[in-house]
Amino acid sequence: MDIIEKLTEVFKEFPGIGERQARRFVYFLMSRNGAYSENLSGLILDLKKEVAQCKECFRFFIPTQKVGTPTSSKSVGVCEVCLNADSSSLMIVEKDSDLESVKKSRVYNGKYFILGGLVPIVEKNTKSRVRIEELKKKIGSSPKSDLGEIILAFSLSPQGDHTDTYVRNELKEITEKQNIKISSLGKGLSTGTELEYSDNDTLKNALKNRQ
Ligand SMILES: [Zn+2]
Repeated sequence: MDIIEKLTEVFKEFPGIGERQARRFVYFLMSRNGAYSENLSGLILDLKKEVAQCKECFRFFIPTQKVGTPTSSKSVGVCEVCLNADSSSLMIVEKDSDLESVKKSRVYNGKYFILGGLVPIVEKNTKSRVRIEELKKKIGSSPKSDLGEIILAFSLSPQGDHTDTYVRNELKEITEKQNIKISSLGKGLSTGTELEYSDNDTLKNALKNRQ
């Protein structure tokens, strides 16, 4: 495999990028000067250094407190969304960009959890694809009186529906024991709607009509 093929394979792993687009990226990089590539590779390395993953919701965020600043032990590794959220509800979303769009709409002020993907309909080893064990642990360990409702907010697609059913089944035992209500946001969205691209009114309605 030559360098062009190797880099094409890397870009093909990006969301929504196919062989042809991946190859175009490689040719684009070749046409740029050395400083461009240096800047790009530096930024990619810095991204890993500067971004943290929240221990509560698994969201990626840039910590406002730099290393060396006195912090309370509770805030270390927890993002500002989790620190300021109302802990009576927990919304489960597929990915970071879903959380960002719901957060931006200001229609919901509870906690979040990023599942890390949808569960494919034909999938034998589901547990390796999504954070279901982490989710169970989180709910199982939350104080009984605190959490009253879990809102499943996946896109209205066959895979989103499948994930909804899967998560409901997996959480059934814990939620019944702790008397936590589970609702789905999807019913208020139209078919094929991506949470990520929903506007404020759509989200507001979806949240109001959740069932
Ligand atoms: Zn968080």
